[in-house]
Amino acid sequence: MARPRKPRRVAFLPGVTYFKPRGIPLRLLEEVQLSMEELEALRLKDLEGLEQEQGAERMGVSRPTFQRILEKAHRCVAEALVLGKALRIEGGDYEVVPMQLHCRHCNHRWEQTAADSPLACPNCEGQASELPRQQGHHHQCCPCIPEDR
Ligand SMILES: [Zn+2]
Repeated sequence: MARPRKPRRVAFLPGVTYFKPRGIPLRLLEEVQLSMEELEALRLKDLEGLEQEQGAERMGVSRPTFQRILEKAHRCVAEALVLGKALRIEGGDYEVVPMQLHCRHCNHRWEQTAADSPLACPNCEGQASELPRQQGHHHQCCPCIPEDR
């Protein structure tokens, strides 16, 4: 019996959502799908180097759930790379909660969702770092939850 799940919190929406191997005819091309929360787990754990505990906290899930999401994500990516499949990033069960950013130079704080380029301060263009979100703060989130991206 499936309980209704809380959506996972995602702070990053990718600019690129489709990867296709070169030189494979379309009719032979198979696709794997990576959900937004799986991408977020990869970003937090593998790119930002957070511990599972911290990643779980950022996404508003338990540590075992975070680990499960991450394992699924690794499997998807491995399958695409090893078996030469296309990778589509879409769907999932998530809500978009902007990253809270902080400039180390001028102390400016702001929020932003996507981070295609290195995060730069809108004031001084200094390098920004991501602040951990306060517990229970996530209901004042961005109203535009993109259901059908
Ligand atoms: Zn600044």
